Amino acid sequence: MRKGLWQVVAVLVAMMILVTGCGKSIGKSAEQGQAAQGQQSSLLTVKVLDIGQGDAILIRVAGQAVLVDTGDIEHRDKMVSYIKKEGITTIDKVIITHPHADHLGGMPGILENFKVGQIYDSGQTATTALYRQYLSMVNKKNIPFTIVTSGTEIIIANDIKLKIFAPEKPFITESEINNNSVVSKLIYNKFSMLLTGDAEKDSEARMLKTYAGELKSNVLKVGHHGSNTSSSPGFLKSVAPEAAIISVGANNDYHHPHPSTLKKYEQAKLKVYRTDLDGTITVTSDGNTYNITKEK
Ligand SMILES: [Zn+2]
Repeated sequence: MRKGLWQVVAVLVAMMILVTGCGKSIGKSAEQGQAAQGQQSSLLTVKVLDIGQGDAILIRVAGQAVLVDTGDIEHRDKMVSYIKKEGITTIDKVIITHPHADHLGGMPGILENFKVGQIYDSGQTATTALYRQYLSMVNKKNIPFTIVTSGTEIIIANDIKLKIFAPEKPFITESEINNNSVVSKLIYNKFSMLLTGDAEKDSEARMLKTYAGELKSNVLKVGHHGSNTSSSPGFLKSVAPEAAIISVGANNDYHHPHPSTLKKYEQAKLKVYRTDLDGTITVTSDGNTYNITKEK
């Protein structure tokens, strides 16, 4: 009898362990579920990925994944594995700001590893092997391809969109690929973030004319990796960001960011984040408030 009782106790204890164990893992997945659902309903995440010299910005909200630029060729694998680790299999929208390798370089890796729903592009072409590979892969996979210009709106969810400020047609100068970058403002209720690609002063001046009243944004992805060819004073004044993020590789050949650009941001007394020093930078927002965290 006693032995039997112990057996019952042992079974009960085992059941409790099982239930607790189960509860834990259910709790864990419920937590993950809530996070995923939370993301679907309200939480916006923007990650400026630490992928060396180049831009790759991953936006997640409302169950969608949007990638603005894809980094350079040499960091392609790092970028792909980063996005895979996020549990992403489909990238709903990819925006290529301009066809330079430090923005387009990862695209073959994206097309090989993820299902891509739609591509948005500045409409600028290049004579590089990389550009030809990109176009041929997009054609082969029959991915919808839209050329965006100033005034276009890319709707991500009901209240979340990217409003395109540049390039404006006609292009500034056909050869000025940076200056005809796609510039977009990510808007989620009260929160906004300006994504500038490598737009330089001429593009900034044009946007100041066309969108003076709309440039103001909480967060600015600094143009052209903090080069002194961008971040003109008038433009900075209109954007009036509270925080600036520079996507830049450590010890890059271009000496980005330029000390004079850093000084401008310092004088404006706003918080500057750099992927070379801070790693991947994550901005989250519920549409009312926002938070910025750094990896390092
Ligand atoms: Zn660039």
